[in-house]
Amino acid sequence: MFWEKYSYSQIKSKVFEALSRNTNYRSEKILGIPGTFLDTNIFYDDAPFLKDAPFLSTLIANPNHIGVHTFGDEHEDFFKGTQEIEKDLIKICAEEIFSADQGSYDGYVASGGTEANIEALWIYRNYFKEEFQAELNEIAVVYSADTHYSIPKGMDLLNLHGIEIKVDHISRKILIKDLETKIEKAIAKGYKYFIVNINMATTMFGSVDDIDQITALLNLLRINYKLHVDGAYGGFIYPFIKQESSFTFKNENISSFSIDGHKMLQAPYGTGIFLVRKNFLKYVCTNEAGYVKGKDFTLCGSRSGANAVCVWMILRTHGSAGWRVNMHHLIDRTTFICEKLDEWKVEYFRNPDLNIVTLNSKYITESLAKKYHLVPDSHHNPLWYKIVVMPHVRQGVIDDFLTELKNEQKTK
Ligand SMILES: *Cc1c(COP(=O)(O)O)cnc(C)c1O
Repeated sequence: MFWEKYSYSQIKSKVFEALSRNTNYRSEKILGIPGTFLDTNIFYDDAPFLKDAPFLSTLIANPNHIGVHTFGDEHEDFFKGTQEIEKDLIKICAEEIFSADQGSYDGYVASGGTEANIEALWIYRNYFKEEFQAELNEIAVVYSADTHYSIPKGMDLLNLHGIEIKVDHISRKILIKDLETKIEKAIAKGYKYFIVNINMATTMFGSVDDIDQITALLNLLRINYKLHVDGAYGGFIYPFIKQESSFTFKNENISSFSIDGHKMLQAPYGTGIFLVRKNFLKYVCTNEAGYVKGKDFTLCGSRSGANAVCVWMILRTHGSAGWRVNMHHLIDRTTFICEKLDEWKVEYFRNPDLNIVTLNSKYITESLAKKYHLVPDSHHNPLWYKIVVMPHVRQGVIDDFLTELKNEQKTK
């Protein structure tokens, strides 16, 4: 994994050069687009600092990245400058983070992990319908009980049936026996096509589904399936920590990934990234998108080019080596917490390659959880409370929390 780090002046010149290749609402004769720059009464464009602020300048220029720009030469060319930056961003994510072969993938910056996950379900549903004349009652989505709610949300929208697989209470691992039994039952009921969601870190635990064990079973059962990896949470941390992982495009069993820029990467909201192998986006082509040159293959339609530029700026500012160092800092801080918990025999779940510690609720009072804004697995009857070691979680706060936790253990 490698991508080059750029200096701030290199980043600035590349973004401004891209903006200069976009159609400019100020200087060109643009009569046909229902878009324009941001309202200048509020976002004045002559502020002197803007010449040093490539992201804000892009935000104000307001390029629309509608559609997908990783294939064909047929696409909206009003904003081709910044769309090239999005292409470089997608290339970094697909080729460097997930080891895709050059040009073997498509992708775009979606509104978030939710949209990216729904896009995946939508693609595979239509793939089974088109390629195998599948009926809706022959397609099932398979996912673990710890899966993010965007998957059930997408099933609801797309009229898809779901099969939820149990996980072990302590290890949070998918119960492979339950997977096998439920798939066999589904086959007996007439299901023939399976859309499998695999978590490359769950939101509540940071647990990573054992993809090798699961695909070994699916392949043994010889079922017809497509597999999506939900890396909304883990996408920008797990691949930087874990050596030798099966979560790459080198793994033939995987067809797509979701990764959120607005979680670990500290990008603004609206920066989910969807990556998929070539020749799959065609299943969600909306041919009725007549006015969009090159058609639309996304769920969202119009989307801000500034979001793509921003994620690109973050990745290019750090470079791959810098980002890895950042993520290791978070991991070290998380490990520090776990070492204390071990010492005090407080039960918790933690995946060593992630920055989440999920505490068994019996070790923690509700008031302490409230004070430090720990998030429960359920607001009615919490079994778990999680700590997510994000960049704002400084050692001082961790120390305060641990001191209070220790005092609570003593008084018990
Ligand atoms: C946050 C998250 C999502 C949804 O992402 P949004 O960006 O909130 O739409 C999906 N899956 C996982 C595992 C997540 O952590």
